[in-house]
Amino acid sequence: MPKLKIVIDWGHGGSDPGAVGNGLREKDLTMKIGKMIGDMLLDYEGVEVIYTRTSDYYLSLEERAEIANKAKADFFLSVHINAGGGTGFESYIYNGNVDAKTVVYQNVIHAEIMKVIGNVTDRGKKRANYAVLRETRMPAILTENLFIDNAKDAAKLKSDQFLQQVAYGHVIGLEKAFGLKKKAKQQAQSQTQQKASDKKLYRVQVGAFSDRKNAERLAEELKKKGYPAIIV
Ligand SMILES: [Zn+2]
Repeated sequence: MPKLKIVIDWGHGGSDPGAVGNGLREKDLTMKIGKMIGDMLLDYEGVEVIYTRTSDYYLSLEERAEIANKAKADFFLSVHINAGGGTGFESYIYNGNVDAKTVVYQNVIHAEIMKVIGNVTDRGKKRANYAVLRETRMPAILTENLFIDNAKDAAKLKSDQFLQQVAYGHVIGLEKAFGLKKKAKQQAQSQTQQKASDKKLYRVQVGAFSDRKNAERLAEELKKKGYPAIIV
């Protein structure tokens, strides 16, 4: 089966920092989020990730679209950070003629991102005449992930954990939009990770034992077996 080719476009780069504010630069954040999305997509069967840029350099909007067109990509995702006085998340598709699928993809991906990123204003699903959306010959979406010049949004954007959530929302959106399936090996791996996190939850309750010494003895035994235990 041919692979599903997804182009991930890290907005801005090189001499073009994009929006700046609160000690952050858009080009750095789009690179971080875009890379996280690409990494997460490696867990899926039959997906080929193509980046428009792979480090901090300038690329015109036309060049970005050209990369996707030449690769005959199935989907184009451009990641951006907003600015200009506002807060929250919004997504864009081209405001001219688009494939009906493009609208569906925007609906699904937008909804999943909003679900995952939690307490963030939903600015809505929008349409605009953006070059990367217009010039790409495949369904394309552009996401504006919070406002760099808004102190509250910027505080979130400074957290790598939040950026992971943003990336994860995009990935779950893509998973649902395209019916992606996780690789079997990866499933096994995540099960192992699940077991590891189960271990972390081992708590030895003092109340359940006649005295603290017993609790300490059990905690010690658990540790020997490789189960990190805490006494609570
Ligand atoms: Zn931008």
